[in-house]
Amino acid sequence: MSTLLIRDVRPMGGETANVLIQDGKIAAIGTALAAPAGAAIEPGGGALLLPGLIEGHTHLDKSNWGAPWYRNAIGPSRLDRINNERRWRTEAAHDPAARSLDLARAFLANGTTRMRTHADIDPDIGMAHIEATMRTRDAMVGLMEIQIVAFPQSGIVGQPGVADWMDEALKQGADGVGGIDPCEIDRDPVEHLNVVFGLASKYARPVDIHLHEPGEMGAFSLDLILERTEALGLRGQVTISHAFCLGTIALSARDALLERMARMDVRIATTAPASNPVPSLAVCRAAGVTVYGGNDGIRDSWTPHGRPDMLDRAMHIALRNGLRRDDELGWALDCVTDAAARGCGFAEYGLTPGCRADLVLVAAETVAEAVASVPPRRLVIADGQIAARGGVLTA
Ligand SMILES: [Zn+2]
Repeated sequence: MSTLLIRDVRPMGGETANVLIQDGKIAAIGTALAAPAGAAIEPGGGALLLPGLIEGHTHLDKSNWGAPWYRNAIGPSRLDRINNERRWRTEAAHDPAARSLDLARAFLANGTTRMRTHADIDPDIGMAHIEATMRTRDAMVGLMEIQIVAFPQSGIVGQPGVADWMDEALKQGADGVGGIDPCEIDRDPVEHLNVVFGLASKYARPVDIHLHEPGEMGAFSLDLILERTEALGLRGQVTISHAFCLGTIALSARDALLERMARMDVRIATTAPASNPVPSLAVCRAAGVTVYGGNDGIRDSWTPHGRPDMLDRAMHIALRNGLRRDDELGWALDCVTDAAARGCGFAEYGLTPGCRADLVLVAAETVAEAVASVPPRRLVIADGQIAARGGVLTA
């Protein structure tokens, strides 16, 4: 039982208010709220108040965060990176439990209180990365809510054991079923998707498929995914990560796919990369498709880039989409707040009474300024307790 009153903050840049937190939840928000007897009081200093930020697509288990710099000299293709990673993990004795915990804590210091991470399963590591990520998920309980997707990075078909390990991961409490480029990686899209959707049905868990496939190939895979989503009645249970194909195919074909996605509430997770075509945020929003944001891998053997900072990612989404107006910058924040909560299925989310008290205070006048300027996090409250001050963890 704990009570905390945050004084003088501006929720989403609105009027100054006080926020009363009781037992980990927002009890009330109002201008004239007084502190109950025994409550701790925290001055907000007129800061902009945001809900806890959400990382919708990352790979905690791959990261080299907290370890010496990884010297990247890898070939240009996706398969080069996949094979290099499998070699490097063994040679460098990569510790996915320690690295994922370091990275999760860095995210929390910057105000991320919910996260969806994909954990690798392949014939070299079996369940090891799933188990390591589950340890991090357990260690962060009460501060950060982490969803783990069982992710077949090297494919499923022709990868001995992977389908069984994915089944076992879900049995042990993985939160979602992953998949990857059904045509390009497995070269057998029907069998790949039969395994993915079979597991989703068996365990009633959401699906989140990495779809990097370009143009017509990606559109074909997407069509197969939508067909299965509809047939199995999985409305609101499927995410397409990346969906690069929607950035290049003919506009009429794109719009037809978006219409089906909207109808079945199939979401898109975007990292808004500079190097790949991405579906336009404005077009997706107009079509009624939920788009949310993620870093993808951070400082791993795939990429030196990325920061455990979802305001920074929102800024990249805004840049990649050419967003300038204040209301448009609000869309970018939506990608790492409400849309991500909706897309990943995080409950009790937001700045209203009854929601989990996950709050971020920053020195900015408006939401648009926060996205464009990425100010330091003055205070982070997670599950009702003060978790970080000035970007430094206290919890
Ligand atoms: Zn990814």
